[in-house]
Amino acid sequence: MQHANCIFCRIVRGEIASRTVYEDQEVLAFHDINPLAPVHFLIIPKGHIASMMDLEDGHRDLFGKIMVLAPKLAREQGAKDGFRLIVNTGRVGRQEVGHVHLRIIGGGAPLGSMLPRPRS
Ligand code: 5GP
Ligand code: ZN
Repeated sequence: MQHANCIFCRIVRGEIASRTVYEDQEVLAFHDINPLAPVHFLIIPKGHIASMMDLEDGHRDLFGKIMVLAPKLAREQGAKDGFRLIVNTGRVGRQEVGHVHLRIIGGGAPLGSMLPRPRS
């Protein structure tokens, strides 16, 4: 299933340009338009799934495959010493694009901490 106005569905259909990292029948990985580190790409299912909140048992194989793909592609892209995998989810997770995406960020110096820790 594809959504007409979803940015990432439009990337899947080739209506919006992107730089492909990996593609098969059900998965697309492409470089983030606004990289925060030397390696920064997204992995998405080609079918429209709004967020992690919408995953069901039927998505196990697809997301198992995506999770195994993430470190393989990260290494190939140059993140040989680790990376951060971020899946912003929903309003509280500050998800900006409503098509589930894994962000893989790394390839440079160790990243900053994710969330500010309260001072003790
Ligand atoms: P999130 O929804 O997790 O906050 O982040 C969305 C991510 O998608 C951001 O890192 C943003 O830079 C990236 N992004 C948004 N629009 C586009 C686009 O049109 N092309 C590409 N390649 N990346 C995009
Ligand atoms: Zn979509």
